[in-house]
Amino acid sequence: MHDRRHQVRRRRRQHVDLDQQISNQRDQKGDLARQRRVAAFDGVGEALLGRFFCLVVVAVVGGGDAAVEEADYLTRYADKVYLVHRREELRASKILQERAFANPKIEFIWNTVVERAAGDDQGLLHHLELRDVNTQVRRDLHATGLFIFVGFNPNTGVIADHVDHDEFGYLRTDWSMQTSVPGLFAAGDVRVQITRQVTTAVGDATTAAIAAEKFLKARADAAKEVGAA
Ligand SMILES: Cc1cc2nc3c(=O)[nH]c(=O)nc-3n(C[C@H](O)[C@H](O)[C@H](O)COP(=O)(O)OP(=O)(O)OC[C@H]3O[C@@H](n4cnc5c(N)ncnc54)[C@H](O)[C@@H]3O)c2cc1C
Repeated sequence: MHDRRHQVRRRRRQHVDLDQQISNQRDQKGDLARQRRVAAFDGVGEALLGRFFCLVVVAVVGGGDAAVEEADYLTRYADKVYLVHRREELRASKILQERAFANPKIEFIWNTVVERAAGDDQGLLHHLELRDVNTQVRRDLHATGLFIFVGFNPNTGVIADHVDHDEFGYLRTDWSMQTSVPGLFAAGDVRVQITRQVTTAVGDATTAAIAAEKFLKARADAAKEVGAA
């Protein structure tokens, strides 16, 4: 009992501290609506993010690892997380699925797509317009946060006509990260590869930088030889 009272007092104190922080920041930087956006994007901190998503509802779209992991993560801050998926089963790995299914804060909305995100008069998200892909029935879902994880498109369109790539637009490279165009190197997520992680991107970039330097040096040496002949 004593512990419980202590916890309640501590929580109240934390709330007061957070409200004070928010109020201070509102005075300094503008209105609360702006504060919310700033908090979401400049990493004001988990405490503030938690305060904004506290007692509100967010939605995650997708059914793969990223979507399911994110939904689980967001339950730290949100009271309720809807996971909206266009199929009736997830693609995510089994362990992530099990964790998500066991999480009481996550509710799955199957066979459904988000057709529109509607905002309030402050420009903040208010609700989503959903469509059941089987019945075509539409309905609104109240949510104040939307997190979309439905796959990636590499931004390679500008060179797609000139550089060898796969059907999705990911660039093919050799072991030195050189593309089909001599002297053009690619590194990281934009490449055809099985893993797209920070570590692989950094490794690729290291290889590409060293290979590019060797490429330039070889060209300079060749030009010197031609000049000397
Ligand atoms: C939600 C999410 C969670 C992730 N979590 C993890 C994790 O926990 N651990 C992990 O290792 N990896 C994680 N990743 C993957 C990791 O972020 C990427 O693998 C890594 O950032 C790839 O680095 P990159 O430099 O290839 O691409 P990016 O980091 O995407 O950088 C590409 C840069 O190029 C810029 N750009 C794009 N087009 C143009 C253009 N035409 N002109 C100029 N600039 C352009 C972009 O703005 C961007 O700054 C996560 C990714 C996502 C989306």
